[in-house]
Amino acid sequence: MHRIVLLGPPASGKGTQSDRISSLLNIPHLSTGNILRKEVENGSPIGLEAQKYLDRGAYVPDELILSMVQAWLSERPEGWLLDGFPRTKAQAEALQNLSGVDKPTLVLGLEVPKEALISRMEGRRECSSCGKTVSLKEGQEEICEDCGGNLVKRSDDVIDSFKVRYQNYEKLTLPLFDFYQEKGILERIDGTQAPDVVFEQIKQHLVSEQVHGEA
Ligand code: AMP
Repeated sequence: MHRIVLLGPPASGKGTQSDRISSLLNIPHLSTGNILRKEVENGSPIGLEAQKYLDRGAYVPDELILSMVQAWLSERPEGWLLDGFPRTKAQAEALQNLSGVDKPTLVLGLEVPKEALISRMEGRRECSSCGKTVSLKEGQEEICEDCGGNLVKRSDDVIDSFKVRYQNYEKLTLPLFDFYQEKGILERIDGTQAPDVVFEQIKQHLVSEQVHGEA
């Protein structure tokens, strides 16, 4: 049974790799960022609250995220993949102790230096319909090749917001590498390579997790 957490800085490729992992393993995938953006778009009470934080790159409060994630996880006993959660020590500790939810079995930590993240962020687009993340190539039409939706730049993909997100990442999320290392479930992934190469590295860890899980 796979219960996987994907950690990494903004624009490190978490969305792209999450799509691939969840298709490969046939497990459901939750992106807290995607859910929050949808809530904002729908103007729901959660969205109105989250909007205050999203555009300036701040993390939304732990309680808001936790109630969303707990509801989702409690309906998915068959395994899962989390992209963008946990992002703080309080969230990671809560995930270890959520009632009725088993603990993560594997944490994949994507490592990409800051300079590379900035140029990736500039070319990043998201499908307004299916939420797929795309790295725009020169001359490419801004249409999603999966569903035909429009590819749009995220409103938080601007340098000021990126700087805040990156600072928060270093201060609040990076310590989770140690948190999971101590639990013996962290695998560090070199995220600087092309998506296919990164996925090959990830697959090796998924295979070895399967072998250990079955032993
Ligand atoms: P992402 O799509 O993962 O880059 O997330 C976009 C934004 O959603 C972040 O910059 C935060 O404002 C918010 N967000 C997503 N996940 C979390 C989380 N686990 N804790 C706090 N804020 C979050």
